[in-house]
Amino acid sequence: MAEVKKIAVIAGDGIGPEVVAEAEKVLKKTEEIFGYRFETEHGLFGGIAIDERGTPLPQDTLEMCQKSDAVLLGAVGGPKWDNNPHDLRPETGLLGIRKALGLFSNIRPAVIFDCLKEASTLKPEVLEGTDLIVVRELTGGIYFGEKLRRQGDNGEEAVDTCVYNVKEVERIVRQAFEIARTRSKKLASVDKANVLETSRLWRETVNRIAPDYPDVELEHVLVDNCAMQLLRRPSSFDVIVTENMFGDILSDEAAMLTGSIGMLSSASLGEGSFGLYEPVHGSAPDIAGQGIANPIATILSVALMFRLTFGYHDAAEAIERAVKEVLDAGHRTSDIAKDKSQAISTQQMGELIVSAIRK
Ligand code: NAD
Repeated sequence: MAEVKKIAVIAGDGIGPEVVAEAEKVLKKTEEIFGYRFETEHGLFGGIAIDERGTPLPQDTLEMCQKSDAVLLGAVGGPKWDNNPHDLRPETGLLGIRKALGLFSNIRPAVIFDCLKEASTLKPEVLEGTDLIVVRELTGGIYFGEKLRRQGDNGEEAVDTCVYNVKEVERIVRQAFEIARTRSKKLASVDKANVLETSRLWRETVNRIAPDYPDVELEHVLVDNCAMQLLRRPSSFDVIVTENMFGDILSDEAAMLTGSIGMLSSASLGEGSFGLYEPVHGSAPDIAGQGIANPIATILSVALMFRLTFGYHDAAEAIERAVKEVLDAGHRTSDIAKDKSQAISTQQMGELIVSAIRK
């Protein structure tokens, strides 16, 4: 009998609970079909935790995650908490959980589904063959550096500090080289070495460890150029590795290549096999509670969890195949539907995918 895997489930805010509910049905179906065993536990996080517990990341939620093999997260945030002080913002909880769980890399695949090429704002011929991964450093850089407000000569000033050390750069770059090795053996390291000191350290570190991966073709790309090339020739990229803020922006841009943010999964990994899996999108307050959110990103995050944390490649493939089958049959939630009047609900999409999962 398969070992029981503990999964901490955090639905969060907005559409989070709606999409996570469908992903949990997928977990259940794979248990039935493949004989894997999962024990799920639910915790409060984000805006709902601020309302109910006075903090975005309650200690018991953090401990539940630490005792688990993997975490499945919906999304957090919303206008209700946007004007809260820093410590009482859902995003502060997100940064905190990544740091507390030692998750130093965020991995986002951007794959073009043939049947959805028309949903992208780019021409289909530009997108042809696009299958890339953005590996973003998650726990360093400007998001975590010292911040301050002060009075300057010209009135109030704000300062954000960007700090990276060699160890932080090396571990993420090595992970990206390893991922590149399992794919087309091409790595683009993205920085702003013509201007930023942290980028110069980044580039030196990449060059120092590159000889350990002679089979991987390395290129350095400046972040502004990368932003352009992603729109001009996205299929020329395979694995992109970059620091926290550049990765935040570039991975959203890569997400848009696929046409809908509702399709994109992500993994946040630390050392070892533990990972936190979540859709790339946020809590989508504009459509929350309407039952129309696309659950595919969260469902594909379960597939990513199976691959990267559990090594359940058969079940991961079955989920990915089921998603493709349902899309090929023409079923669409409203974010990816050409004819919105034909769009199906979150629940219908989840159930169609669940029923298409086969061994
Ligand atoms: P968003 O991703 O929530 O929404 C952007 C647009 O995409 C909206 O029009 C939304 O309706 C649509 N969209 C997103 N996911 C969708 C889905 N599954 N199906 C269909 N349409 C979908 O980004 P935003 O509006 O910038 O942020 C909203 C809130 O989410 C903010 O409070 C933000 O801080 C938070 N946020 C959280 C996370 C996270 O939890 N990791 C990530 C990004 C944003």
